[in-house]
Amino acid sequence: MIQEHRAAKRESEPRSSRAHWLLELAGIAAFSVLAILLGAEVYLGAGGFGHAWLLPAVAVLAYLAADLASGFVHFLADNFGSEETPILGPNFIGPFRDHHVDPEGITRNDFVDNNGNNCLASVPFMLLVWLFVPVATTAWGYFFGAFFLMVCLAVFLTNQFHQWAHMDAPPGWVARLQGWGLVLSKEHHDVHHESPYDTYYCITVGVWNPLLDRLRFFERAERLIRRTIPGTDPLLRSERDGSLNG
Ligand SMILES: [Zn+2]
Ligand SMILES: [Zn+2]
Repeated sequence: MIQEHRAAKRESEPRSSRAHWLLELAGIAAFSVLAILLGAEVYLGAGGFGHAWLLPAVAVLAYLAADLASGFVHFLADNFGSEETPILGPNFIGPFRDHHVDPEGITRNDFVDNNGNNCLASVPFMLLVWLFVPVATTAWGYFFGAFFLMVCLAVFLTNQFHQWAHMDAPPGWVARLQGWGLVLSKEHHDVHHESPYDTYYCITVGVWNPLLDRLRFFERAERLIRRTIPGTDPLLRSERDGSLNG
């Protein structure tokens, strides 16, 4: 009953505040500029160091890394902190928690609301790499820069893939990518949306999910974090079962 009320309330609310929407828009703009700047550095590096034939392999590794990162960030946002957590709570943790109460809500996100937060999370790291890593002038910087840029692009795409996985009828070409297992599919992601929402956290393509589930990786990680970091008390059963979780 509480969940229904909460879901109905959410449906009538805008997906995020106007101020946060504008911040997300700025995040997408900053992400785009930094991606172009880093891309230019990688291009110069390719001119200087060659080995461009290695880039497809780097892209595959980056895609796998982004999928793993998506799982870990999702795991943290689902299990630690609350909507009241300063700064991150209302606009970053909140949407993850709401997502279990109203899973279809993500399909009503516009492009900015759906992808802005991932850009905001990536921009500080992109800025650091652009400022401090010699991508165009050293071989290691070139390979790292190419890998990092591709991870960022996959992170950018992650919540788009997640949104498509919640659509009953995604565009035909998306459905084909889902069918080939190249992006997150509905059937795969549905496993995460079953109570108690404690597995299949990876949401770029989900390739790590069966392995991590078999290893009980997130269960062990949660126990370790709660044991070692003060204040990370166990969630109430009702929170994990979806009245708050996302
Ligand atoms: Zn979902
Ligand atoms: Zn979740």
